[in-house]
Amino acid sequence: MEIYADNAATTAMSRNAIQAMIPYMDKVYGNPSSLHSAGQKAKEALETAREEIAEVLGGSPREIYFTSGGSEADNQAIISAVRLGEKKGKKHIISTAFEHHAVLHTLDKLKKEGFEITLLDVHENGVVTAKQVEDAIREDTALVTIMYVNNEIGTIQPIREIGAVCREKKVLFHTDAVQAVGHIPVNVEDDNIDMLSLSAHKFHGPKGVGVLYVKKGIFLTNIIEGGAQERGKRAGTENIPGIVGMAAALKEAADKLSANTEALLPKRNRLIAGLKEIPHSALNGDEEKRCPGTVNFCFEGIEGESLLLLLDDKGVYASSGSACTSGSLDPSHVLLAIGRIHDVAHGSLRISLDEQVTDEEIEYIITSVKEVVEYLRGMSPVWRDLINGKRQFIL
Ligand SMILES: *Cc1c(COP(=O)(O)O)cnc(C)c1O
Repeated sequence: MEIYADNAATTAMSRNAIQAMIPYMDKVYGNPSSLHSAGQKAKEALETAREEIAEVLGGSPREIYFTSGGSEADNQAIISAVRLGEKKGKKHIISTAFEHHAVLHTLDKLKKEGFEITLLDVHENGVVTAKQVEDAIREDTALVTIMYVNNEIGTIQPIREIGAVCREKKVLFHTDAVQAVGHIPVNVEDDNIDMLSLSAHKFHGPKGVGVLYVKKGIFLTNIIEGGAQERGKRAGTENIPGIVGMAAALKEAADKLSANTEALLPKRNRLIAGLKEIPHSALNGDEEKRCPGTVNFCFEGIEGESLLLLLDDKGVYASSGSACTSGSLDPSHVLLAIGRIHDVAHGSLRISLDEQVTDEEIEYIITSVKEVVEYLRGMSPVWRDLINGKRQFIL
């Protein structure tokens, strides 16, 4: 069996999205900035995609800026907000300790420039509260940036309430909604969002393309200079096939949202129940406040990397959800943020499902993880110490 269970890293492209893209890689290859008919055909596709995406998000087409993906959108949103704040002497930013690195590393850079960053505690359940945001807002707060759904543990943040607090306090609010859009209902109006980042490849669209939604009236700062594309806010010839594919994938995801959720929830719940049967294991993040596809567990006495390699041998493609994949030995900042100690955080496993997964595949994943955890514990000196009472169990 071969099961792709790493949909939080990236997703398979939808057939519709691929089909929608082909004409724009084949016959309609004009540059949308060109005045001739070949260019204008591409321009038409660009603006249609912008309208379709705005419609799904609940904004207007003029509030949609195309980017190269989620990382670029996060960077531009944060930089723009702090440049606006700076003009009014505001040098304080509020975020959380478990954001994506596209946010955290941008904040690190701003800290070196003299900005003051407050990273809110996300508690054991991986959820921040609107009250925490309210209490942290100061006179000089330029921006609140909080992710919608965490990419490692899948917990959903109370974005609508946080947005309402920010509106009331007149502080700009950005959300990295890369793991939310196409997976749970997101609406920029209802959710009180000023700026939002999304990325096509997380909802069955192509890689290397995303959106920064920016509410009308908020001045954007360029991070890429050049031509006048995207109303002068993002230079570079537009990725027309990518943008068309993204719009098709987003429309499809939005149309199927409730059906997909309904299909996925019982399977995800069965997966959680099955993995909980493994002794000395724990689900990471709140059991209820989570997106339909992502499940993250810690297993005591083993290492996540070995777990992944042995699962790979069994045809199960998952992730440790940590920085291990980038060659770093540091445990995941997300798991540390929810209070897992280093030893436990090392034994983590993220399984992120898509709507296509079958009951049979879920059972295969559960059996495989059980076998591999048992096998690794059988060889683990740490596990031996735990069993012999030389070390204390934490989970
Ligand atoms: C994947 C991801 C990103 C980065 O998006 P790219 O399009 O790969 O740059 C940012 N934030 C979150 C939460 C993500 O999951």
